[in-house]
Amino acid sequence: MGSVSRGPESVSRGVRRGIGVAIVVFVASLALVACEEADGGASGGNADLILTGGVVWTGDDANPRAEAVALRGARIMAVGSAGEIDAFRGPDTRIVELDGRFVSPGFIDNHTHFNSAGALLLGASLLDVADADGLRARIREAVERMPTGAWITGGDWGAYEAWAMGSAGDQPGEGDEPFSPDRSLIDDLTPDHPVLVNRWDRTAFLANAGALDAAGADCSWEGVECIDGEPTGRLTPNAAARVRQAMPAKPMELRLEEARAALADLAQYGVTTIHDNTPPNMFAVYQALLDEDELTTRIYARPTLDRAEHQAALGLPRNFGSDFIRLGGFKGFVDGIMGNSTAMFYEPFDHTGGFGSWRDMMEPAGNMERLLIEADAQGYWPQVHAIGDHAIDTLLTLFARVEEVNGPREDRRFRVIHAQHLAGPETAARMAELGVIAEVQPYHAIDDMRWMEERIGPDRIRWTYAFRTLDEAGVLLSFGSDWPGTNAAWYTANPLMGMYAAVARQTPEGEPEGGWVPEERIDAETALRAYTVNNAWAEGMEEEKGRIREGYLADLVVLDMNPLEVEVARLQDVQVMLTIVDGRVVFER
Ligand SMILES: [Zn+2]
Repeated sequence: MGSVSRGPESVSRGVRRGIGVAIVVFVASLALVACEEADGGASGGNADLILTGGVVWTGDDANPRAEAVALRGARIMAVGSAGEIDAFRGPDTRIVELDGRFVSPGFIDNHTHFNSAGALLLGASLLDVADADGLRARIREAVERMPTGAWITGGDWGAYEAWAMGSAGDQPGEGDEPFSPDRSLIDDLTPDHPVLVNRWDRTAFLANAGALDAAGADCSWEGVECIDGEPTGRLTPNAAARVRQAMPAKPMELRLEEARAALADLAQYGVTTIHDNTPPNMFAVYQALLDEDELTTRIYARPTLDRAEHQAALGLPRNFGSDFIRLGGFKGFVDGIMGNSTAMFYEPFDHTGGFGSWRDMMEPAGNMERLLIEADAQGYWPQVHAIGDHAIDTLLTLFARVEEVNGPREDRRFRVIHAQHLAGPETAARMAELGVIAEVQPYHAIDDMRWMEERIGPDRIRWTYAFRTLDEAGVLLSFGSDWPGTNAAWYTANPLMGMYAAVARQTPEGEPEGGWVPEERIDAETALRAYTVNNAWAEGMEEEKGRIREGYLADLVVLDMNPLEVEVARLQDVQVMLTIVDGRVVFER
């Protein structure tokens, strides 16, 4: 280390330098387009769409505010005053009068699980379900959404109940019996849908008559609970695994339906690119949607780090693909998660005495180092999950080791994914020195705060979700959602909720007063930048997206309120009025 000045300062300087050059290009090309317009008449340079009369936040330090934007095809044609942009108006131009509303570059989400989100949105999400009425309502809704014959699976009931009861997440409070449903609650609702759902911690499963029949499961099976010779539907994990063998592979049509539900969710929140944790079977789904012009968000696809060698074997470079589907970084894992107390810490969890655990990729010794060095040697960008302080420090040492082995290079953009619990400010300084990006999800903070302190105590929470410390140290802050969450919590894809979380550090109800660890609150513009400009840089597309600038991809959102001026408590209420991707309106309220 220290051989190359590639730290965060040089990163920010690099970004700023780029903007300096770009402003010259911008002014020159705007003049050029204007000339063409004057000479060429209507066929020359009319916009397809003009947004005018608003507050345009460009994310471009050289030209931070404007009133109007002209779009043509998939690109931004011009950005400027309402008068300037009016020159691009033609007979077929659609004009959107903004009436003072706020325009931002389309939101880029640094961390999604698109396939799980689609399955949850179409199927049954039971995280907050802990009684018969709740279960019946959710199952009924899922039946209405899902095609006849489709299996309803997963669900993860009781996660919020577990925390409310005992907080530790795995041990109910004394005297409380966790919700333990049987099939009599759902059989009448599900004559045409086999159901195999589970408790959030996967210790208990529920099958309906359809699923038991399909698997031929009866009282002779071990792990099938029976009363009076009839299966109740309650299964042990082993019995559930046997039942699952009867489940057919999910048909393509159902996977497309799930994907459409997920896309609609993203469009209503103004998300125009996702950095998606992509299992191999999703590429066919994305391609099928693209072929039908249905892909309304751009996919920066992130396979797992152990797949990097396959991409290398095919000779595919970093960022191979198109503006809509691109092979992005590779995701590795160092430790577990907070939700089940498996994040890796130096000091034990207060409530379990455990230190957390390493993930598979860390074994055998040296495996992670090898994976990182090989991926980096191909020019790929590893992006690695590390949550506990011990995990983060371990990862930073590995990143430093990669640089030592493969030598200095200007184009590394490694990320620490989640980066939740720093040992202290020195960790942020080290990240800055290494030029490592903090890929954080601010909504985690206001969800986890329900139980964080009793798990790791008052001292360690000072450096949890330390957004301000990271930002001020010079680490590039990258924001996203982790949508749709884990088996222990639901996370919304709404970037305005993420901004609210980072700025307020309060629950949606405004607790605690003043914010949780208020020293780590950041301002709204820093948060907006972390959802736009910074994420474009994190994916290596800073010359194409993340800002509203002439020649950039036409990915924009219109908001009903100015998130930089609205009072903090109302940030979460800011609504997307219009989402434009690739010059196309994909959502309109
Ligand atoms: Zn995730």
